[in-house]
Amino acid sequence: MNKTARQALTLCKRIVIKVGTSTIMYPNGTVNLQRLEKLAFVLSDLRNQGKEVILVSSGAVGVGLHRLKLLEAPKTIPEQQAVASVGQSELMNLYSSFFFNYGQVIGQVLMTRDIVDFPESRLNAINTFEQLLMKKVIPIVNENDTVAVDELDHETKFGDNDQLSAIVAGITEADLLIMLSDIDGFYDRNPNEDKKAQLFHEVHHITPELFALAGGVGSKFGTGGMITKLNAAEHILERSGQMVLANGEDPTVIFNIIAGEDIGTLFTAKQAN
Ligand code: ADP
Repeated sequence: MNKTARQALTLCKRIVIKVGTSTIMYPNGTVNLQRLEKLAFVLSDLRNQGKEVILVSSGAVGVGLHRLKLLEAPKTIPEQQAVASVGQSELMNLYSSFFFNYGQVIGQVLMTRDIVDFPESRLNAINTFEQLLMKKVIPIVNENDTVAVDELDHETKFGDNDQLSAIVAGITEADLLIMLSDIDGFYDRNPNEDKKAQLFHEVHHITPELFALAGGVGSKFGTGGMITKLNAAEHILERSGQMVLANGEDPTVIFNIIAGEDIGTLFTAKQAN
C-alpha cells in the first residue's frame, strides 16, 4: 500500500461525499433510513471536527417513485421531472430531520450544467458554496432534475451525479471526493459477475484499458456503473485531486478513509516513493 498517499488523506480539510441511489434506497424501492441516519451522524461529526463537508446525493427519482407509489420510472421527461420534484423535497425533508438530531444545519443546492458553461454562473455557485461552508452549513447538492434538459442548443444536464460530484469537488477546490457506491471499489472485472475479481487499491492514471474493465450497470437504481465513476476520477486526477471509491453499506467507513486506512480504491496522482 502507498502509505504516503493514504496518509495524505488524513490532512484533507474540504471533503465532497457522493452517495448513489443504491446507497440510500433498499432494492425493494423504499428508503434506507438506517443509512441516512448514519450518514447524517458521520457528516455532522466531521463538521464538528472542523472539516468542511459537501454532500452530493442522488435518490430524488427513487424517493419520488416510492412517494407516488410507482413501481417503475415513467418514460416521458415531464413525468420523470415531476417524480424528481416530489422526491427531491421528500429527500431533503428526510435529511433535514436526521441532520437536525445532530444540531447540523443543511442547505439545498440544485445545479445545472450552466456552472460548467458560463463563468458567471460558476462564480456565483462558488461564492454560494463558500458562504455556506463559512457558516458551517453542509450543502446537499443534486442536479436540478426538474428543469435540467438535454437540449442541443442549451444543454443543462450533467448526465449523472458522479460527474456532478467531480465538478463540485473541482469548483470548490475540495481536497477529496469520497464516492460511496454498492461495491467495495473498482475491480479488474465486475465482481457481481465474477467472484475472482481483484480490487484495485490505487489508480494513478485513467486509461482506455481501465475503461474496458468497467462493465455495465449493476444495481436496480444505479445509473452509470463504473464508467461514470472513472470519468469522475479522470476529472479529479486532471486537477491533481484525490478520490476514494468505497462501499456505502456502512457510512462510518468515511471515518476510516480519512484516517488513512486502506479502504476501497484510491485515485491519486501521488505515486508511492
Ligand atoms: P451507484 O448507484 O452507487 O452510482 P452503480 O450501480 O451505477 O452505482 O455502479 C456500481 C456497479 O457497477 C456495481 O454494483 C457493479 O455491478 C458494476 N461494475 C461493473 N464493472 C465493475 C468493476 N470493474 N468494478 C466494480 N464494479 C463494477
